[in-house]
Amino acid sequence: MSYLTLKNINKIYPNGYHAVHNFNLSIEKGEFIVFVGPSGCGKSTTLRMIAGLEDISNGEFLMNGKRANELGPREREVAMVFQSYALYPQMTVFDNIAFGLTLQGVDEEVIEEKVKNTARILGLTDYLDRLPRALSGGQRQRVAIGRAIIRKVGVFLMDEPLSNLDAKQRVTMRSEIAQIHRETGATTIYVTHDQTEAMTLADRIVVMKDGYVQQIGTPYELYYQPANVFVAGFIGEPPMNFVRGTVKGGGISFGKNAIDVAKKLGGKAKQYEGREIVFGFRPEAVVLGKQDKACQLEAVVELTEMLGDNANVYITAGEDKAILKVDPHDIPALDSTIAFSIPDSDVYLFDGESETVIR
Ligand code: ADP
Repeated sequence: MSYLTLKNINKIYPNGYHAVHNFNLSIEKGEFIVFVGPSGCGKSTTLRMIAGLEDISNGEFLMNGKRANELGPREREVAMVFQSYALYPQMTVFDNIAFGLTLQGVDEEVIEEKVKNTARILGLTDYLDRLPRALSGGQRQRVAIGRAIIRKVGVFLMDEPLSNLDAKQRVTMRSEIAQIHRETGATTIYVTHDQTEAMTLADRIVVMKDGYVQQIGTPYELYYQPANVFVAGFIGEPPMNFVRGTVKGGGISFGKNAIDVAKKLGGKAKQYEGREIVFGFRPEAVVLGKQDKACQLEAVVELTEMLGDNANVYITAGEDKAILKVDPHDIPALDSTIAFSIPDSDVYLFDGESETVIR
């Protein structure tokens, strides 16, 4: 039996908007789950239904195998961390972290010990007497997390907790959240629109789009076995390159290049003849020059970006465009024509109509 189960969960708002469609997921104790997708795809709505802050229109939410749809937020034993830290400005860090326990009338000595322990995990020991205004954004967010983790709840729900931080703080805080999860072992559900956050934090990622789950899997599975064009394009930076074309004589064109798709389609080659197909390859999968057992292409270099440990090369072939990620020592000259290859094992094919992967 899973710890948390979402069975065919739907959300239809009172105005009739169907924000979440048939969401199914089982979560084990201690897992770090990330909901990721573009803004408006239903991530927060799903999280709020789990928190008990939003009614479930249809479907069942189970905690430890028992129906929990009707339980209020407190009875669900969840703690939520929001984007805005919502700290009490006139209270010290200590009092902010202790607040929930103080309200419950917990013994002072117990509170002291718990706050100190929480502060240690969060690196806030030296800041307990400060007011929130004397803290950096990252420290404030740590206090907000402290307030959540001091209550020994079963589930932490985090809604874009890093979005108010600058880029550098976000990276630091991201690794701290991973560390906190390792230390507390608490089941965590985390919402973000940032695929890097999702990839670095999650045990499993749920990719959503327009209220529908697109794929659920480990970061590795989503990256190497994307279920469809959307997931393939959403996970990875720069995104996967796509060449769309109608299959003619077992191939599609990329500018003047003919790409043989029949070989990869194998037994399905016949059924795709005359139909649209999407050929995908990751920027880092290409090898400059020619290679055996690979798709060979030629294109013109339009722009290069030196990034330090690698470089992006923007290429065009007729109307078609792609980005290649290359070794910084191999950056080709602007306007030059280059040959490159894509190893067969790094080619993805998707159905042009349904956009699902062809396996
Ligand atoms: P995300 O967290 O992925 O950005 P949300 O779950 O907040 O998306 O919202 C999903 C969709 O539901 C959006 O189109 C949003 O406008 C809509 N929505 C959110 N709250 C309400 C509401 N109270 N009434 C009607 N529609 C809502």
